[in-house]
Amino acid sequence: MDDDQAIAYDLAHLASAVQAARSALNYARKGELQLKLAQAYVADVVHQIVSNSLGRDYCFPLNSSEREDFIRFFTKYREPNFVASLADTPGDRGLEGEFELLQDAFRRFATEKLMPVADEVHRGNLDVPEEVISDLGEMGAFGLSIPQEYGGFAAGGGNDYLAMVIATEELSRGSLGIGGSLITRPEILARALLKGGTEEQKRSWLPKLASGRLMSAVAVTEPDFGSDVANIQTTATRDGDGWTINGVKTWCTFAGRADVLMLLARTDPDRTKSYRGLSLFIIDKERSSGHEFLLEKTHPSGRGARGRIEGRAIDTIGYRGMHSFEVSIQNWWVPNENLVGGDNGLGKGFYFQMEGFENGRIQTAARAVGVMQAAYEQALKYANQRSVFGRHIVDYQLTKVKLGKMAAHIQAARQFSYDVASMMAKGEGVLEASMVKAYVCKAAEWVTREAMQIHGGMGYAEEYTVSRLFVDARVLSIFEGADETLALKVIAKRLLESN
Ligand SMILES: Cc1cc2nc3c(=O)[nH]c(=O)nc-3n(C[C@H](O)[C@H](O)[C@H](O)COP(=O)(O)OP(=O)(O)OC[C@H]3O[C@@H](n4cnc5c(N)ncnc54)[C@H](O)[C@@H]3O)c2cc1C
Repeated sequence: MDDDQAIAYDLAHLASAVQAARSALNYARKGELQLKLAQAYVADVVHQIVSNSLGRDYCFPLNSSEREDFIRFFTKYREPNFVASLADTPGDRGLEGEFELLQDAFRRFATEKLMPVADEVHRGNLDVPEEVISDLGEMGAFGLSIPQEYGGFAAGGGNDYLAMVIATEELSRGSLGIGGSLITRPEILARALLKGGTEEQKRSWLPKLASGRLMSAVAVTEPDFGSDVANIQTTATRDGDGWTINGVKTWCTFAGRADVLMLLARTDPDRTKSYRGLSLFIIDKERSSGHEFLLEKTHPSGRGARGRIEGRAIDTIGYRGMHSFEVSIQNWWVPNENLVGGDNGLGKGFYFQMEGFENGRIQTAARAVGVMQAAYEQALKYANQRSVFGRHIVDYQLTKVKLGKMAAHIQAARQFSYDVASMMAKGEGVLEASMVKAYVCKAAEWVTREAMQIHGGMGYAEEYTVSRLFVDARVLSIFEGADETLALKVIAKRLLESN
């Protein structure tokens, strides 16, 4: 595959677009507007397939009758006036009953509590307001996909992940940095614990995570190992009734405010064992605010070097509020009970964290949908207010086509995220979780770019929300599996293996 990376990458993204088109077609059955949005979206996917097949018949084969059908279809439904007609009709979410109520509650929270402070936190590089965290805890946001028996709200049916996805989208519409992303870390740790934790660990940690009393951060990436996680160097060495941790982690988002770090470390000194030598730990720490922290503690024996954890926030262009830290850990001792899975979990940390990251991916796709939705709303509002050459921008065909295409793509992305959530609740959808993450996060870049463009110069001004959405969207394809790594090492690999 390494010799044909460019084609494998296109294959992964095209296959993901086709999956999204399937979700759009299900949505099309719900009514006339839904059908039109799906037609506009599917036409773009079909257009992409035909474009990719040109000159590459050997890997994207289309016979002439398929090609003609495809061209006929996209000619009709990419027609500019058809797409323009969708500019201000984004379609409803198609949710019913309790899910509609849940969406409404989180939407109201985002509008009333997040939006008024989101730009201020971004511009000032401030901390997430404590009130936001406690309010979300009270709303049950951190326990939406944690099983009821462990203090969460997931009843064990096919909709267990859907509530989390809906809430995440709405919170991210308010703010990626101080809203939707707060759920990601507890979600990853909870999933890793459910996969590999002992019963005692699940009973001890999960209720605290579900209630929001315990906030977590994820310490996996290291300065020299990001995509190549299997080769991380941080060590955990047996020490009395516990383990002593040494190493440097980076990009550890929320490490300051978090009460615990979910940390991946090498417990087997034999480096040739690669990922099979890794184990997962829960590191207790004190909370701290701001951009730096330093924690120290004495070894339980009262002797030896004092343990230290030092964190320094990395300045970023967006995704502000939680702060992403470089964290240096020296001689930090944790008891045996903080090794996920106990002795049975030794060497299995990589698998446990991967389980967590699968959930992180569907959650990140929902974050991307929320950011896109916010960008679309901002663009539509501005286009209706601003006059250029004597007409409102929204009255120009080109603006309408952009907005119509945004509406169609956002709805397809949303429906795709709902469908993957349902698959995951049934224990399926591992490949689709990567597909939805890779595809939707990239789409968010295009949507926020166009939304900014519709604002003209004001899109580049910090005082307009759309500039925050643009820089926030940019991170989505980098973390939780960089786009290229996900496309090549997960999606294309699995597709090729299954054919
Ligand atoms: C704001 C932010 C927050 C983050 N939060 C966390 C967190 O909370 N916890 C945590 O552990 N990590 C976190 N990360 C880290 C994130 O997961 C990594 O940045 C990501 O996994 C990529 O690793 P890297 O930065 O080392 O890039 P690299 O692995 O160095 O990759 C660089 C580029 O090369 C590409 N590439 C890699 N392998 C290949 C290949 N085989 N073929 C072709 N191209 C390839 C990648 O896709 C990427 O484009 C965060 C990152 C950011 C930016």
